Amino acid sequence: ITVAALRETAAGERRVAITPEMAKKLRGKGLRVLLEHDAGRAAGFPDVAYADADAEFADAAGVLAQADLLACVLPPDDAVYVGLREGSVVVGQLRPYGATGRVAALTARKLTAFSLELLPRTTRAQAMDVLSSQAAVAGYRAMLIAAEASPKFFPMLTTAAGTIRPSKVLVIGAGVAGLQAIATARRLGAQIEGYDVRPETREQVESLGAKFLELGVSAAGSGGYARELSAEERAAQQQALAEHLKSIDVIVTTAAVPGRPAPKILTAAMVDGMKPGALIVDLAAEGGGNCELTKPGERVEHGGVVILGPLNLPAGAPLHASEMYARNVFNFVELLVHDGALQPDFNDELVAKSCLSHAGEIRFTA
Ligand code: NAD
Repeated sequence: ITVAALRETAAGERRVAITPEMAKKLRGKGLRVLLEHDAGRAAGFPDVAYADADAEFADAAGVLAQADLLACVLPPDDAVYVGLREGSVVVGQLRPYGATGRVAALTARKLTAFSLELLPRTTRAQAMDVLSSQAAVAGYRAMLIAAEASPKFFPMLTTAAGTIRPSKVLVIGAGVAGLQAIATARRLGAQIEGYDVRPETREQVESLGAKFLELGVSAAGSGGYARELSAEERAAQQQALAEHLKSIDVIVTTAAVPGRPAPKILTAAMVDGMKPGALIVDLAAEGGGNCELTKPGERVEHGGVVILGPLNLPAGAPLHASEMYARNVFNFVELLVHDGALQPDFNDELVAKSCLSHAGEIRFTA
């Protein structure tokens, strides 16, 4: 079996789906590893780094022509799907929600595609959970970007030039990214609060040494995720939050509901009430943003408050992001290989639930 990866082509993408460490492990399982030249270079893994792993290299067309399984970080162009042999397997973050254009190419080539975002969040799936591994990178980087862009120090400083009070940082959405953002802000010495609509997050926020912000709105959904708020709940949340924001220096927002646009939590009026020099880093920018004023990929200034909407944060720490991602991919590939052959067992819920297309049919509809 040939397991392959291309150089990722999305703008700004620097991660790679197969690292030297994972190439070695794949070889150890008796699989052949085939990479496009320079596939890992932007992540910090030049081709020579794969020498120990006995990986082979080819140009993109050569890789596609020989691949039995193509691992990718982001959804490839349709041309990639068309270049694969009929019936090949694709594993990656394929953006399954509403991705109709991609899906046509998948079915036309009868590709068996697994979209790792669809894995259930169960204990057994944890080792393959790309949402978690990449969200951890995103949360960490979002807080570093916030610390860098804020006009204030995060920690308290006692100096001969006077005492600097610590920044007040609020993280909205305490999932994987939010908790990592909180941990990062703590390490930088900020005074930190976390908020989420899932009640179980209180303990997680507090265990990181942050204060849980209680707004009296609770919205646990299924599968460990939040559900969308009703209009009344959203109004109650915004009213409670607006007053509180007046004292906050930095907000990092990470709130998401799978398959839905990012919930709009911060309105323009709420931003109007914030201190000049305050900063919002909207990690949900990719899904439209948690702040009404966010422009994905841009910096917006609104009455002295700066709103950043950074995109694809994991690509900015490509070495560790790739290491974690590639481990997730390896663990998933292991599930698909039985007796030296690629044989996805659709009775396994991890295989069945992550399957986007198989044998010319779409297996997932959002
Ligand atoms: P996510 O990216 O879908 O959402 C981020 C956070 O935003 C969530 O905590 C969500 O509750 C919150 N949110 C949504 N709407 C909100 C609103 N209106 N206001 C405030 N907050 C809002 O979530 P995620 O980080 O991928 O994790 C979600 C869940 O999955 C968590 O329960 C996590 O513990 C669980 N999880 C389980 C496993 C596992 O067992 N394998 C692995 C990872 C995560």
